[in-house]
Amino acid sequence: MIKLKQSKGFAADWRRLSEETPAPVQQLVGEIVRQQAAALADLFYRDMLADEEAGTFLDNDLVNERLHASMQRWLCELFSDGPQEPEAIYKHQCHIGEVHARIQVPLALVMRGARILKHAIHGHLVESSLGRGELVKATNFVAETIELALDAMTDYFVIDMEKQTRTDEAYRMFALGQNMLAERERQRAAILEWAQQILLKLLADGGTAELPGIKHSEFGMWLQHKAAIIFESAPELEQIRLRIEEVEKSLFPKLLESRRNPGDASTLMKEIEAGIAEIKFLLGGLFDRFIEVESGRDALTRLLNRRFLPAVLTREMALARRSSVPFALLLLDLDHFKKINDTYGHAAGDMVLQQAADLVVSSVRAGDFVFRYGGEEMLIVLVEVDREQALYVAETIRQRLDAEPLRVGEGQTVGVTASIGIATYNGHPDYETILKDADGALYEAKEAGRNRCVVSGR
Ligand code: GH3
Ligand code: MG
Ligand code: MG
Repeated sequence: MIKLKQSKGFAADWRRLSEETPAPVQQLVGEIVRQQAAALADLFYRDMLADEEAGTFLDNDLVNERLHASMQRWLCELFSDGPQEPEAIYKHQCHIGEVHARIQVPLALVMRGARILKHAIHGHLVESSLGRGELVKATNFVAETIELALDAMTDYFVIDMEKQTRTDEAYRMFALGQNMLAERERQRAAILEWAQQILLKLLADGGTAELPGIKHSEFGMWLQHKAAIIFESAPELEQIRLRIEEVEKSLFPKLLESRRNPGDASTLMKEIEAGIAEIKFLLGGLFDRFIEVESGRDALTRLLNRRFLPAVLTREMALARRSSVPFALLLLDLDHFKKINDTYGHAAGDMVLQQAADLVVSSVRAGDFVFRYGGEEMLIVLVEVDREQALYVAETIRQRLDAEPLRVGEGQTVGVTASIGIATYNGHPDYETILKDADGALYEAKEAGRNRCVVSGR
């Protein structure tokens, strides 16, 4: 559905551009581009190959054998002088976008490539026989054509990114459903097995055997392929990797060396054992945290954990685009919360946080999402609402908090207020934008004196 609609938009824009641009101008642009296609491809890839980031995707052979010719074909297709079928061109651009997304070429790089080409073609146009008025039209024709092609490519980038996020998320959900306790025991056993193999190799032969690196052990493969997905960027993962590197790169060579001197070997073995014990400890902690807390909810408030935010926002953006019904973010920050901690103590502060979270959850619908966003900040995703409805919900929450005293211990209560920044989805594909808008609105609410709601003007 989404593709069909976009394809129609593309075709309409393409035809409009063609109608707006006088035929002789189109012809001349076409001639210049086709004539210069090889030179333009040269220029393009010279720049790309010199770029550090692009260098990881490209090498000279690949460029010479495949990409150079494709780039020329692409330019000739976009500026062909024959009859053109915009629908077919759209499809082809989507395909190119799909390939770029799959090999994970950064979008910024594609954009830069387009700028290089536009600039170079403009240079040729300036040197041509075109008069001033025609030059403007020709430049515009080139820029819009390339931008249209890029639009079609990026459609695919965005779809692909959404798919990617959904896949990662689905995998984590799947991992959560697995028996993590059993998985923890299995990996502990796998580490021990690795340690045993080191010992056996060391004892078994006359001193020539390679010590078994962890990369291809069961634990190593699990760490490489699965742990990174399940635990995302948990700091323990990096620590585990560092410990392994220390054992393999620094202790192994010393151990091999020491086979001539068995006295040293036992000290080194103790160091290796200590290293492995630490890896086990780190892994245990990681699993524990995951099992207790990372069931998706924050341990203190029982609100959704922030790590699910990207997946939820990406999904809501896609739904909003499809249904044309926007959603809204409320970023709520408790006012002068430090004072509550200072006056009643941290434990009382925790109690207030829990009650405030309960109050928020009971003020929204079952389909909405409430995240613990920071210390005393909550982020509420209100699905299928417009600005007015979002403001109404935010006001309700603010007033309820303002009116209800919260417990801070035996028979003691305290009043707490909140400031809320509101932003509605405006179609921007990067969810950081709407977060920034909500954050800006929250800042305004604080500046204006707190205990109020502000809707982002953007
Ligand atoms: P304002 O937002 O109105 O500008 O003032 P504030 O005092 O709320 O702002 P600030 O961000 O300076 O302080 C937030 C405080 O919240 C600081 C921190 O000690 C406290 N806090 C953060 N997380 C927790 C938590 O989990 N429990 C408790 N008790 N306090 C927390
Ligand atoms: Mg704060
Ligand atoms: Mg605060």
